[in-house]
Amino acid sequence: MKEDYYELLGVSRQATKDELKKAYRKMAVKFHPDKNPGNKEAEEKFKKVSEAYEVLKDEQKRAAYDRYGHAAFSNGGGGGASAGGPFHDPFDIFSEVFGGAGGGGGGSIFEEFFGGGGGGGSGRAGPQRGSDLRYDLEIELEEAAKGMEKEISFRKPVQCKRCNGAGAEPGSGVVTCPTCGGQGQVTASKGFFSIRQTCSTCNGSGQKIEKSCTSCGGEGRTNETTKIKVKIPAGVDTSSKLRSGNNGEAGVHGGPAGDLYIVIHVADHDIFERQEENLFCRIPIKFTLASLGGTIEVPTLSGRASLKIPAGTQSGTTFRLKGKGMPSLRGGYFGDQMVRVVIEVPTALTSEQRQKLEEFALSCGDADEPVGKTFFDKAKKFFD
Ligand SMILES: [Zn+2]
Ligand SMILES: [Zn+2]
Repeated sequence: MKEDYYELLGVSRQATKDELKKAYRKMAVKFHPDKNPGNKEAEEKFKKVSEAYEVLKDEQKRAAYDRYGHAAFSNGGGGGASAGGPFHDPFDIFSEVFGGAGGGGGGSIFEEFFGGGGGGGSGRAGPQRGSDLRYDLEIELEEAAKGMEKEISFRKPVQCKRCNGAGAEPGSGVVTCPTCGGQGQVTASKGFFSIRQTCSTCNGSGQKIEKSCTSCGGEGRTNETTKIKVKIPAGVDTSSKLRSGNNGEAGVHGGPAGDLYIVIHVADHDIFERQEENLFCRIPIKFTLASLGGTIEVPTLSGRASLKIPAGTQSGTTFRLKGKGMPSLRGGYFGDQMVRVVIEVPTALTSEQRQKLEEFALSCGDADEPVGKTFFDKAKKFFD
């Protein structure tokens, strides 16, 4: 008995799309095979929650599931070789197909269910382009600044090695479809009418594989872990998308492969905040240094840099280090690094220090300092 999709994700039947997504993310992160190498149980669990999410995130499929349960998706008696089941690759958290570029591939069992066209059979459907895949890659700010090559691995349908993607068992040939006699169409009676329909056994091709490949069941694809090297250009930012052509899912029945889209997430940095190509940081300085002036060392992505603090620097003053920011993704220039100084007031004075500061305060008298002067000028009318 298959487990309930809602229970698998730990959500109520009334869960919103957002709640589903959150629940799925949590599970997917926990059970992802990359995090649990060799753990069969985690892998199984991962497949199950992915399948559950795949259905529930889709309004139509969810409605069908709510009504019919798992029966909505069972592959009614056919040879199981229909092109592209409802779940392409249970392993890709990532495989939310990108902006419709894909075509082909998914959901055909579902369409059959609703269209009343009858079940799979080992028909010989035409070539279909493989789906595009999405891979979310988290990198450090330093990596984004320099650019680099990263190896990523993920599971996806690849061309079946046994049949070279043809779907036929080696040595077996292609025969005329017995259902339609090679016509590709059948006549069906619906009440008083009789209409011609595309033959569901051969999907209109008029041919049928004599014997389905024993490795892929006739689909021409098998799921495998794939490793690829990705070149990350310097200057990428969160949401940058990199396209890796033909590294998506393999095509069905000799169709072309889809593309892989790598979506970058740059992790938060301890020191720097990024805005486009500029970097921002806050650096504490002593109040004596701010008053007397001097030089401080500041961290930059390319090492230390020295920064001159002029005498009389006020708290919150921002200094610009030209060209010490992030490289532009399109090349040609670097952003700046903005250093905002925060003046630190000593909290534990020795009695000697305290005495000296008191003397200093006395010697200052009521002298107007620049920031104070402007402020009190503006505030004057409130005091009058
Ligand atoms: Zn095969
Ligand atoms: Zn046929």
